[in-house]
Amino acid sequence: MSMSVMDIFETMAYGPAPESTSTALAWIEERQPFGLFINNQWVKPASGQYLESINPATGKPLAQVASANSADVDTAVAAARKAFGSWSKLPGHARARYLYAIARQVQKHARLLAVLESLDNGKPIRETRDLDIPLVARHFYYHAGWAQLMASELSGYEPVGVVGQIIPWNFPLLMLAWKIAPALAMGNTVVLKPARYTSLTALKFAEIMQEIGLPPGVVNIVTGEASQVGEVLVRHPDVNKIAFTGSTDVGRSIRRATAGSGKKLSLELGGKSPFVVFDDADLDSVVEGVVDAIWFNQGQVCCAGSRLLVQETIEQPLIHKLRTRMEKLRLGDPLDKAVDMGAIVSPTQLQEIQRLVAQGVAEGAEMWQPSWACPTEGSFYPPTLFTNVSPATSIAQVEIFGPVLVTMTFRTPEEAVLLANNTRYGLAASVWSDNINLALDVAPRIKAGSVWVNCTNMFDASSGFGGYRESGFGREGGKEGLYEYVRPTWKNETTKHSKKFHIAIQSTETAEDNETAFHNGTIESLPSIDRTPKLFIGGKQVRPDSGYSRDVFNVKGRVVGEVGEGNRKDIRNAVEAAHAAKGWSTGTTHNRAQILYYIAENLASREAEFAHRIVQQTGRIYSDAFEEVQATLSRLFSYAAWADKFEGVVHRPPLRGVVLAMHEPMGVVGIACPDDYPLLALVSLAAPAIAMGNTVVVVPSQQSPLSATDCYQVFETSDVPAGVVNIVTGERDSLSLVLAEHDDVDAMWYFGSAEGSKRVEFASAGNMKRTWVSNGHDRDWLNVPQSEGREFLREATQVKNIWVPYGE
Ligand code: NDP
Repeated sequence: MSMSVMDIFETMAYGPAPESTSTALAWIEERQPFGLFINNQWVKPASGQYLESINPATGKPLAQVASANSADVDTAVAAARKAFGSWSKLPGHARARYLYAIARQVQKHARLLAVLESLDNGKPIRETRDLDIPLVARHFYYHAGWAQLMASELSGYEPVGVVGQIIPWNFPLLMLAWKIAPALAMGNTVVLKPARYTSLTALKFAEIMQEIGLPPGVVNIVTGEASQVGEVLVRHPDVNKIAFTGSTDVGRSIRRATAGSGKKLSLELGGKSPFVVFDDADLDSVVEGVVDAIWFNQGQVCCAGSRLLVQETIEQPLIHKLRTRMEKLRLGDPLDKAVDMGAIVSPTQLQEIQRLVAQGVAEGAEMWQPSWACPTEGSFYPPTLFTNVSPATSIAQVEIFGPVLVTMTFRTPEEAVLLANNTRYGLAASVWSDNINLALDVAPRIKAGSVWVNCTNMFDASSGFGGYRESGFGREGGKEGLYEYVRPTWKNETTKHSKKFHIAIQSTETAEDNETAFHNGTIESLPSIDRTPKLFIGGKQVRPDSGYSRDVFNVKGRVVGEVGEGNRKDIRNAVEAAHAAKGWSTGTTHNRAQILYYIAENLASREAEFAHRIVQQTGRIYSDAFEEVQATLSRLFSYAAWADKFEGVVHRPPLRGVVLAMHEPMGVVGIACPDDYPLLALVSLAAPAIAMGNTVVVVPSQQSPLSATDCYQVFETSDVPAGVVNIVTGERDSLSLVLAEHDDVDAMWYFGSAEGSKRVEFASAGNMKRTWVSNGHDRDWLNVPQSEGREFLREATQVKNIWVPYGE
């Protein structure tokens, strides 16, 4: 029955507006079965096997895609390694030209890419056309700029090498762009594994690279299964970095698999992001916001606003408005330009959503879905709203990764913040209020990498994206994202600085000479042996829980003192004290600077004593030890200076508004110090951490801990608030492990053996804390470029991007 214009006017129904698929289907038909893209050539998989890619909207096969195995991964990594030599040496301008050419070519093929993405993933063409593909192009343009500027803006850094990149199915081409653009800009080469369900746009992208003449081997695309490709790439000895986006569980297994390998790692994982609505928000905008937050891409978005937190007084009207809106959402053929929601990526994902929703119902929450029915062919799931949800239930805690929204209420802003942070994740948050003061007060208190004020799901290449807590670490986009793909150049130079030490015993100036010098004049100023075996926790000197002390020996094997033998319990107490001192992070940066200067002042007044202590423990000559103390004072001044100068930036993405990129402290940082430079290394690590607003639990040099215990008094007289610095002496590696395993420690820095580094990285996977380990390599702590400055400050902070749009 055909409709008259009058009928349409009456019903106000949209007619179908299908996008043609003929070009895309012909493109697939001409090429399949698809090969692997290695060295700019299409090669058959070693296994001779292919996987079927299914159209989620119909459940019918779409294409045959190569199923690679470890032999193919080896070939691809070898190709990338070979290409790295020349690609990394190209001038930045040359790489910028290639990235620019890719951006142009993506725009020229935008429609084909959009249609392929819709067919393969099931997401609405409106989204692929208006969001995914334009953002892909923007990402390459933006990073063409960084390639151009690398030499000047990242001087002192070089590419990491061959990068293994593993991406999910929810934004297939966009995630590829987020990975490949910064990697190439910084001079790396790439082996990329697309998700098993969605390889097609990556294969079209491979053609684009051929078209623009990207040198062979710079980017290799290896399709296949996780066990055959992903895991192999993660463990491959010739891969220098892994960049992964996907589930937290897989992220955790990758953290463990790469522990101790020296591979750089960035992880963008799951979320359960809060969408916080205060009673003065504009409810009609809120409703449209919710639609974008949780029904965008069928809710298969890592940063989906899946927890609606509403101020109690407006719950009823908001839920009413939402249900009315949900009745009007259009779900169906993703290629229909008038459709709001498409298909779920696969039957497996669909079943998982069904299972979690059933669990929510069983847990007693109230479930509501619109009255209209879903298509029966393909994998579809309707928008779903849960009310009467209690915060501890699984639907309130588990990432559902589907179009399912759970609602909870709060009364005060404090309650809103508590509820928002009541999750293991920390990827994103939205805050809705017409009171800008309230919104900007709440935004920094929510633990999340992106906070959207009166908007949601905004992305731009200029503004880094990534998580806090179990949502992973590292950023994609912004300048901060570049550091995931570079390393300091000095790491290439061998630093056997221990040779530089002037060990009294080995030089003409013997330890005995040294001691004689003291006896001849300054015997009174020699520090008396401190026999008080205590720890420094919560601003107090406390006895170790074990009740044991350990001897401190000098190089001749003579006992020069004792320190407390810290254990698991002491570390736990120290972490608790560090948490209780959180007010440190919200105090002024000016105040932090003042206290760092004050520490320097009080240390300076005892400089000879500290130098003697170093001599006593290490057997180095006095002038060497004195130099270490002077360097320590300088370092304290540096971080006092940095305390109010390592500032964020204001981004101007293409929208009316600004993005405030703020450097936030990590929280509680565990620090295990190296043995060399017992005073300088301790200060080099603890000072940047506290300057940035963290509180720290420090395990000082195991061999020479007296330089640390001598600092207790300095801290006490320098107004360092109780709990900001905690020091637990004892066995470095076992104490480090307790810190690395601790769920309330937010970052762990370890400077010790390769084996210890591995154990720390492995143990950190529990709460996915960020780690910074030395892998057994020494740093020259006297050398300023190696041991002071921005690298330390970046490790001490994480970037939060707060999006603030303008206008009514
Ligand atoms: P996964 O984390 O399993 O997959 C992401 C990517 O990693 C895919 O390319 C996958 O390959 C690959 N992979 C899987 N296991 C390993 C491994 N052990 N080593 C190396 N690579 C591996 O996500 P799923 O696709 O299975 O989705 C499951 C859940 O993950 C979703 O329900 C959702 O909760 C979450 N998720 C989160 C995303 C995010 O952006 N944060 C994105 C996608 C999913 P293959 O495709 O071949 O399995």
